[in-house]
Amino acid sequence: MTVSVDGKRFLEDLFAQGKIGWVEGRGLQRTAYSAPYFEARAWLKGKMEEVGLETRIDGVGNLFGRLKGKNKETILIGSHLDSVDNGGIYDGPLGIIAALEVLRAVKDAGDILKHSLEVVAFVGEEGEPLGGTFGSRAFAGLLLSDYRRDILAKFGVDENAVAASKGDLGNYAAFLELHIEQGPFLERKGFYIGVPSGIVGITRLEVRVRGMANHAGTTPMSERKDAMRASADLIHDWFAWMDKMAWSVTLV
Ligand SMILES: [Zn+2]
Repeated sequence: MTVSVDGKRFLEDLFAQGKIGWVEGRGLQRTAYSAPYFEARAWLKGKMEEVGLETRIDGVGNLFGRLKGKNKETILIGSHLDSVDNGGIYDGPLGIIAALEVLRAVKDAGDILKHSLEVVAFVGEEGEPLGGTFGSRAFAGLLLSDYRRDILAKFGVDENAVAASKGDLGNYAAFLELHIEQGPFLERKGFYIGVPSGIVGITRLEVRVRGMANHAGTTPMSERKDAMRASADLIHDWFAWMDKMAWSVTLV
């Protein structure tokens, strides 16, 4: 059996969500837990219900829409609904609206599902205001202990809600996410789609370089412990090390 998605219907929904929180001259203003974010989530929930999906919102605000199959196992498809400040309309929602269209097309095709299919719209993937990948980590039970409870409390989400958001991961067979390319490589080569084999891990370091103050006129450079000079060397060496690292993009 062939299941056909409807490109026109998909694009209509993609552009409709892109209007929620759009500010002309700036971009999408839809950071997690902002008023436009909630408006977009309500709109999406309505869309899911139109399709006949069973919807639920977990403790931190991730929205799910489910189409039941014969098996207990579920394939989860989706992305994030929040944007950075001045974001674009595709970063995140593309993967959600594509998932919605897939479920709609599958439903139109009749009773064919083995696995259940679920669309997910994660909250707080972008860094503002809670640090990145907040909603998906809450779902995966991977939130670090130092997440910003103080900020979260302002949105009415407490620790119990976070704990209750952990998904029953044993029931999920796979997670698929369609995302726009945020680098130049696929587009430059004319590829429409790529499958990443790895993902960047980000580590932030705070480095403090301590020198020793001394008299400017009487202490020659050779006698100084100048923090700025040491910092410049450190930064220079750091970049040289990065250039040597074998990070590359291979398109096959
Ligand atoms: Zn994204």
